[in-house]
Amino acid sequence: MTALLEVRDLTVHFPVERDLADVLVRAPHRVVRAVNGVSFTLEKGQTLGLVGESGCGKSTLGRAILRLTEATSGDVIFDGQSVLDLKGDDLLAFRRRAQMVFQDPHASMNPKLTVGQTLAEVLRVHRLCPKDEIDARVRELVTHAGLTPDLIDRKPAGLSGGQCQRVGIARALAVNPDLIIADESVSALDVSIQAQILNLFMALRRELDLTMVFISHDLSVVRHMCQMVAVMYLGQIVEYGPSEDVFNNPQHPYTQALITAIPVMDADAGLAQDLPKGEPPSPMQLPAGCPFHPRCPHVMPVCESDPPPPSHQVDAQAVRCHLHAPNAAASRAAE
Ligand code: SF4
Repeated sequence: MTALLEVRDLTVHFPVERDLADVLVRAPHRVVRAVNGVSFTLEKGQTLGLVGESGCGKSTLGRAILRLTEATSGDVIFDGQSVLDLKGDDLLAFRRRAQMVFQDPHASMNPKLTVGQTLAEVLRVHRLCPKDEIDARVRELVTHAGLTPDLIDRKPAGLSGGQCQRVGIARALAVNPDLIIADESVSALDVSIQAQILNLFMALRRELDLTMVFISHDLSVVRHMCQMVAVMYLGQIVEYGPSEDVFNNPQHPYTQALITAIPVMDADAGLAQDLPKGEPPSPMQLPAGCPFHPRCPHVMPVCESDPPPPSHQVDAQAVRCHLHAPNAAASRAAE
């Protein structure tokens, strides 16, 4: 298989604006460390689920890959080409091949434009079809996304959340992309509509041989949809591997806690356990050592001082944890 997307040591830090009080007390400049050295490779046609608690940096990572947020350092290689320095026509060409479907379907559309105008604008900006073929292409896109053509003249206010999200998907498909990043694209919808939109994503992926990154806090959805999964905690990928391996045999303590916390539908199975104690620390004040150590049930002395190396291969997974380092036994002995 060929790698379509390669993310190398990607970092996104945002400076926090200082208010008057900060200036008066000469408080140090603060930085939100949203993404901290993320690396992974995605093969053409694969679907990757990016999971983690809210605020772990998954949306920022998705936006940085697509150049909707500027990265601080690292690189994104798309189909063999570095994209972080692209400008002008080269950047437009990249945007034709890599699209995002956003979380809030209404907020991601211009309220003044009809469905038809929204899609026609994309076709015009990217010069994707002759002027006299735009109407036909718009009808084709609307139908492809599971909408009836009578909705073409409606504005977002006249659409349900599910219809609006289908327009968002049609807009992404308008450019014939190779990669789609779907950022919590069903979380704002009713449960019955969520299933329809997820089925649409799966059908389109098969039909168009799309490569997808599916950002979600819902592990059940990711297990159902994705071949690969990356678990993020405080801006780092802590476990990466094939979904079946990660879900059946999680190696990182945080992944184990997340999977234990998946709601159990079988009443006889009892309630799912809570996530690890406490809240994740602020991305402005990352703990020393392993960022998960204040919440980790397996914390060792080394975890409080030394960051774990980026990844150890454990079975099919890459895991960022001292437990899996070659000298883990010695560290545990020192407890
Ligand atoms: Fe827990 Fe230590 Fe592994 Fe971090 S490195 S997850 S604190 S065992």
